[in-house]
Amino acid sequence: STASPVRVRFAPSPTGFLHLGGLRTALYNHLFAKKAGGTTVLRIEDTDQTREVKGAALSIENILRWTGIEFDESPTRGGNYGPYHQSQRLPIYHSHVKKLLETDSAYQCFCSAERLDIMRLTQQKTGLPVKYDKHCLTSMTREERQRRADAKETHVVRLNVPTSGATVVDDMVYGSVSYPNAVIDDQVLLKSDGFPTYHLANVVDDHLMDISHVMRGEEWLSSTPKHIILYNRFGWRAPKFAHLPLLLNKDRTKLSKRQGDVFVEQFRDAGFTAQALVSFVALLGWGPEHVHDKMTMEQLIPAFDISRVHRGGAIVDTVKLRSLSKAF
Ligand code: GLU
Ligand code: ZN
Repeated sequence: STASPVRVRFAPSPTGFLHLGGLRTALYNHLFAKKAGGTTVLRIEDTDQTREVKGAALSIENILRWTGIEFDESPTRGGNYGPYHQSQRLPIYHSHVKKLLETDSAYQCFCSAERLDIMRLTQQKTGLPVKYDKHCLTSMTREERQRRADAKETHVVRLNVPTSGATVVDDMVYGSVSYPNAVIDDQVLLKSDGFPTYHLANVVDDHLMDISHVMRGEEWLSSTPKHIILYNRFGWRAPKFAHLPLLLNKDRTKLSKRQGDVFVEQFRDAGFTAQALVSFVALLGWGPEHVHDKMTMEQLIPAFDISRVHRGGAIVDTVKLRSLSKAF
């Protein structure tokens, strides 16, 4: 039998406990993949050492297991494409940046923080889009840049975004969204400490791990044109994208822990059953044709339909959430 071509991933940054939004993203990936007989990957995006919380990665994996979401491939279960901690994959990102540098698809930038500040201020004052002005690309040759980088001069590596045209994101939820390239910044891909940014590591890994569908929070939609430009620069086919509506409070502000419980562990510790929480979270931003208040994972999998996910925010009814039958 041929394996299903559907491969999805949940890619949390280990910056804290899993919250309801993260659970919703993991759950939709799980439902989508299981319905298609596909594969789910858990990937820990731990390339920002300053924001990492010790133990968070394991706690996310454990609480997901409690909810009934298990990954086919994960840091603790292995798979064909691991390791699944990005911090263990630095040589992979470096070799890919090298390829981009060879074609000026990316370039080293040696600009000081002071120069960048002045540049931005000037752009603001003159009403220009605030973005890197390609000074290091246009004022020296590739060989000069390489010589300075080899001499260990402090630098970052930036993506060379086309200056004209537009980049179109074809999103399964948001439809076709066009971004003029003139407003897209030459995104930093490698930081001065040699760590990749989210954008580089995310694209390289989604490609190398054969991810077919990227489902993630709406806050990443505006990063997607940068990712598509990266796929093009590498000569790779981009996966399909689906951006999920933000979770909101009743007053349409972003859900935050100030308004009450948002961490999955808090609900578990308060006596909620995993099924009650999962069926509540499953209906945030999506509704099956015949809505039942309580659906088991087994009922949710065949019912899930990404084309029924709606745009522009999903309100979390905390009163209803608290009143959920704990003995679901
Ligand atoms: N590491 C990102 C996050 O924590 C992942 C976003 C994505 O799925 O591409 O939200
Ligand atoms: Zn520069």
